Amino acid sequence: MAAITIAIVGVGKIAQDQHLPVIAGNPDFALAALVSGRGVDHASVPTFRTQAELLQAMPNVEAVAICTPPSVRYALAREALDAGKHVLLEKPPAQTVTELTDLAAYAASRGRVVFTTWHSQYNDGVDTLKARLAGRRIRKLTITWKEDVRRWHPKQDWIWTVGGFGIFDPGINALSILTKIMPGPVFVQSADLTFPSNRDMPIAADLVFTSPVATGDAALTAAFDWRQTGEQTWAIDVETAEGEVFHLTAGGSKLALNGQVLVEAPPAEYQGIYRHFAELVRAGTSAVDSAPFQLVADAFMVGRRIVTEPFED
Ligand code: NAP
Repeated sequence: MAAITIAIVGVGKIAQDQHLPVIAGNPDFALAALVSGRGVDHASVPTFRTQAELLQAMPNVEAVAICTPPSVRYALAREALDAGKHVLLEKPPAQTVTELTDLAAYAASRGRVVFTTWHSQYNDGVDTLKARLAGRRIRKLTITWKEDVRRWHPKQDWIWTVGGFGIFDPGINALSILTKIMPGPVFVQSADLTFPSNRDMPIAADLVFTSPVATGDAALTAAFDWRQTGEQTWAIDVETAEGEVFHLTAGGSKLALNGQVLVEAPPAEYQGIYRHFAELVRAGTSAVDSAPFQLVADAFMVGRRIVTEPFED
């Protein structure tokens, strides 16, 4: 089967760390071009300064992977769909839930595929936990997602501006696991959002959830913080009414049940994303999941603002 020709739009950290090497290792795809405002070059494929120039110059490219900050994704995705391309969206998929809803409908009207990638969902530990929680009632769920913003987002000013989502840029990864593993709906009941006094987006967030599949006395919480130096924590602990205690760590790649390791797999998130994208393109089927994004929107909707000391990068 012929490889799907693909261009990457926005050649920043995640494009270079994951998309480029994973596309190179997947025979279902052939990298055709890059779109980079800074003119980043790679592997002797052409680089265009704007997506419009790419679409004009290379009409046969079949798909684009949009790896820019989320605030510009909607306009780029519409432009690519107008040109008949299939569209892979890095997370978070747009600036608002409504934009994403429109993209899904627009892709359907154009007969093209749009794919919201939630990379943390592509972990064996997450799949196993989802299967183990099916039909269970949840007594306790604790998300602890604490990392060092200076290490993972050095000098990325966009994360602190409107449309960058602040701590929810990584926090949405935990929420994408939550919405996948929960055996029923989950809602944000309250959110304490902590903003540095010199920034427009939060540096920390504490959420409380409710769910009809939780027990009456359940505590469902998430603590997101970008101020953790040293060891980094990406963990989700779940206790069921049946007394099982699950511990999902390393971003979802390691799962233990009552202290016994069930799954420990090397991370292969982006390999899974591109495997799935090839299946979707060949089947002509979109995959648009707005649930993690909706929880972020809801957290801002019910959020209480707390102001803390200024943050300097
Ligand atoms: P980044 O290093 O800042 O890269 C984003 C790139 O997008 C920039 O280098 C730039 O590339 C392009 N860009 C920036 N502003 C733009 C604008 N206004 N219009 C068009 N293009 C623009 O950011 P990143 O860390 O790669 O994150 C990008 C997305 O991937 C985010 O949504 C993030 O949540 C997601 N993500 C990041 C990571 C991670 O570990 N960093 C992990 C998973 C997902 P050019 O100069 O080449 O045009």
